[in-house]
This record gives sequence, C-alpha cells and structure tokens, in this order.
Amino acid sequence: MNAPAPMASAPHTRTAPQDYADVWYRRQIPAPAPARPALRGTIDTDICIIGGGLAGLTAAHELARAGRRVVLVDQHRVGWGASGRNGGFVSPGYAQGFDKIAARVGEPAAIELHKMSIEGMEIVAGNIRDLGITEAHPQPGIFGMVRYDAGKALAQRRDWLLRTFGYEVEHLDRAGLSRHVTSPVYHQALHDANAFHFDPLAYARGLARAAESLGAQVFEATPATTIEREGAGRIVRTPEGRINAQHVVVTTGGYTTGLVPAMARAFLPIATYVMVTRADPDLIARAIHTTSAIGDDRRAGDYYRLVEGGKRILWGGKITTRTTEPRHLGRLLHRTMTSTYPQLAGLEIEMVWSGLMSYARHLMPQIGQVEPGLWHATAFGGHGMNTTTIGGRVIAEAILGQSERWRRFTPFGLDWTGGLIGMAAVQLTYWKLQAEDYWRERKG
Ligand SMILES: Cc1cc2nc3c(=O)[nH]c(=O)nc-3n(C[C@H](O)[C@H](O)[C@H](O)COP(=O)(O)OP(=O)(O)OC[C@H]3O[C@@H](n4cnc5c(N)ncnc54)[C@H](O)[C@@H]3O)c2cc1C
Repeated sequence: MNAPAPMASAPHTRTAPQDYADVWYRRQIPAPAPARPALRGTIDTDICIIGGGLAGLTAAHELARAGRRVVLVDQHRVGWGASGRNGGFVSPGYAQGFDKIAARVGEPAAIELHKMSIEGMEIVAGNIRDLGITEAHPQPGIFGMVRYDAGKALAQRRDWLLRTFGYEVEHLDRAGLSRHVTSPVYHQALHDANAFHFDPLAYARGLARAAESLGAQVFEATPATTIEREGAGRIVRTPEGRINAQHVVVTTGGYTTGLVPAMARAFLPIATYVMVTRADPDLIARAIHTTSAIGDDRRAGDYYRLVEGGKRILWGGKITTRTTEPRHLGRLLHRTMTSTYPQLAGLEIEMVWSGLMSYARHLMPQIGQVEPGLWHATAFGGHGMNTTTIGGRVIAEAILGQSERWRRFTPFGLDWTGGLIGMAAVQLTYWKLQAEDYWRERKG
C-alpha cells in the first residue's frame, strides 16, 4: 500500500455542529428530533459522501439501493443547508436558461440536459410516493406569472415545451389568472401541473432514513476535515474518525470551504431569503385562491405559496453576496408582497431565514471528477430540488459503471469564479436585473 499522500489539506473553516436553523420546516418536525451520532473510529466503505443535502442524500440512496457500502457525513445535520431551508419548488430546468445552455453546448445537448432536469423532478416525486415520505406534503402545480405584457411569448413557450419534450403546460391570460389570484400586477401565466411544491426538510430527512434502511451509514456533527489519497482509494478524516473509501463524493453546496481547493475556487456562495407570515387565512384568501405555488418571472425573482392549508404565505426572494440580517430582508420581502397584493398590507411576518446557494459563473451545476475517484456535485444555484437529484443519480450511475451521463455536465466545469471581484459582479448583476425588471414593468 502506498503511503498516504495529502491531497487536499487546505484549511477548512470548522464550525461547531449545529442543530437545524429555526426555519418553518423545522417547526413541522414532531419533537424530539435527536441528531445522529458523530463518527468515532475507522470505517471501510465503498463510497464516502461529504455533505447531507439533496445532492449527497440522493447519491447515497441510489448507491445503497444498488447494494454498495455507503457512508455519508454532514458537519451539522442532514438537510441542515439549503436543502432544508428552500422555497420547496420542484420544477424542471436549471438556474441557467435554455438558450444560454444551447449557446454553449448546442441545441441537441441542451435538449438532453433539459430532459434530465425533468427526470430529476420525477425522481423526487417517485421517491416521495415509493418511500412513503408523506410528511413532505407534495402539492401539485406551479404558476410562472409575468408582470408585463409578454404578447405571444408565453403561448409560444407552451407550444415549444409540448413539441420538444412532450411536456404540457397551460397558458392563462389576465382573465384566467383572476380565478387564482387577485393582484393588479400580473398579465399572463403558464401553469405547470407536473411541477409541485413540498416540505424539503421532511423530504431530505425521509431520504436519509430510506438510505439507512438500505444499509447506508449516516453521521451528523461530523465535518470532513481532509481528504488524502491512499493507493487507488482515499482517506477522509473527521475530528474523531477516519473513513477509508474507494470513491469520495463531495456535495457541500453553498457551504463548501477549502476541503477541495478546486471546488472552493469555482463557486460563489450566494445568500437568499424566505419569510413566513402570521396565520390569517381569511385575509390571505382575498389575495391568493390557489393551492399551486407562484413564481414571479422577474429576473431577480420572487416566489411564494400557501402553507398550513392556506393559513400562511411562505414568500422567498432577494439575494445578497453575504448573509445580511434576515429581519431587514424580511421587511424587503414584505414590501414586495404588499406591492403585489396591496390587500395584504396588514399581514405580519412570523419568521424569516436565510440560506446559502452555490453558484458557478456559468450558472450550471458542476458535476464531475476532480480526479479519478474524487467526485463533485455542486453549484445547483436557486434551482436545486430537481438538479441535485439528477446530479446525485448520474454520479451514482457513474460509480456503478451504469452510464456516462455525468459527462453531459463536463462543458460546465470548475471555472474560477473571480473571487471577491466575482462576488461584486454578482451583486451588481442582481441590481442591474432589478432595474431592468422595473423598466420592463413600467412599460406594461
Ligand atoms: C432560501 C433558499 C430558497 C431556495 N428555493 C429553492 C426552490 O424553491 N426550489 C429549488 O429548486 N431550489 C431552491 N433553492 C436552491 C436549493 O435549495 C439548492 O440548490 C440545493 O438545496 C443545494 O443542495 P446541495 O445538496 O448542493 O447543498 P446543501 O443542501 O446546502 O447541503 C450541503 C451540506 O454540506 C454540509 N457540509 C459542508 N461542508 C461539509 C464538510 N466539510 N463536512 C461535512 N459536511 C459538510 C453542510 O452542512 C450541508 O448540510 C433555494 C435555496 C435557498 C438557500
């Protein structure tokens, strides 16, 4: 056996293990929800997965289902990161738009990638059903609404989706929309009845349990501190343990640090925000009369949906390049909500939280190998529920020798993001998009 060669020993900023943040979904977990124990001692395994978000959990589940020995570690808890804090929208597509993807890889490859994004959504729906994760409460339907007169553009998109993917969505004009929302700002919408919204933390926790029932070992409060090479395999070290694995999969999302330097250089951590209102079902019913979720097509978008059977609204939006005090962002989200639905002016905020997303410069997932046997699946941006899932599946297929589908993501590699200059550029781009939204909506 070769002497262990340090592979990635760059300093990893370690934080003390934390319980779930106070997010709406945390409050839905029937107490108590004890953490899994931290890893102590040495384990030999086929695959070690670092990061218990949906990317890591999906890979763990798929690999355990195929009979492989899997160990997953999270520095805090499974679903502690973006996967347990997000808006809960599950729909096809990527953070990057189809046209830009096609410009980079050509239209046929872009079509294949889009089909995979649909598959990601279908895997989530299938897992909820087949694994009995009923506490995720999936609700069908997502509207994509526009705040300006899009002319024929939405109807043309509907036709293109049907022609290209056999994917049906419904087009609604202003009169059709008024059956679902009472708002002065919307002009048209597409309604996607295949897409759905759900409790993402319940799903993440359910998926972890399902992987464990298939033999996977899941450790919480267990940060991976270094990855070292040993022969054809690797050693992952944690504060009190060591994992000897043939393959290592790093799925640390927006919480990535210096563990794998090539990953740390290639992503931007972007904070985004969600608020949940106080309960006032009668007032809310005067504004929103649909159980479908609503995504605003603003380029610096807002998205929202009813929770708790219509008693409250969960509203998400805004991005910053550092975690700003959520209360302040809550007030901004509240302002957007009341400019969309003036009748909700008296509806107060119950809670606000933030989470970190991981973005690459090309806005596409980064799925592949840093070197043989060391895999990464990250940078799912604000469109992670379906994309983490297909990402986890294609990495599992690669490790199992079943497919090379992960190579479809190779054109979107671990590009350097530009460090601090990249962060400033993101914030400036966001402000520019907000300004463009403003002028587009003023024109009607
Ligand atoms: C507020 C918010 C709203 C969003 N809304 C939506 C939405 O409605 N629909 C949608 O599709 N997407 C949405 N997204 C995006 C989506 O949540 C993410 O793209 C997706 O969850 C990323 O999953 P992940 O597995 O890559 O990372 P995460 O879920 O962030 O998981 C990474 C995990 O890695 C762990 N970790 C990090 N470093 C280490 C280490 N060294 N050792 C061990 N563990 C480590 C962390 O503790 C964390 O649990 C939203 C994101 C946010 C923040």
